[in-house]
Amino acid sequence: MLQIRPNCEYCDKDLAADAPDARICSYECTFCADCVDNVCPNCGGGFEKRPIRPQRAHRKGAGLAHAPASTQRVQLKHDRDTLATFTLPLSNIPPEER
Ligand SMILES: [Zn+2]
Ligand SMILES: [Zn+2]
Repeated sequence: MLQIRPNCEYCDKDLAADAPDARICSYECTFCADCVDNVCPNCGGGFEKRPIRPQRAHRKGAGLAHAPASTQRVQLKHDRDTLATFTLPLSNIPPEER
């Protein structure tokens, strides 16, 4: 199950479970659309818009009430000064070719 993290790892902006500007990579690294484009600063993979988990249980046991969003804030572990050196060369390569 996808971990729905509560904030952008880079700028610490709150990203509610239904935030339209939340971006997520295959490792669930979560950033806001202002901070990332198509390169994850952690793994180098691509980003997609984070899917929105339904508020209501349209199926028994499903939805946010049964599988709530995470409340554990995550902070970037990498040196900010070196991020561009990491992401810039990768930004020219489509995620499917990295
Ligand atoms: Zn951000
Ligand atoms: Zn990542």
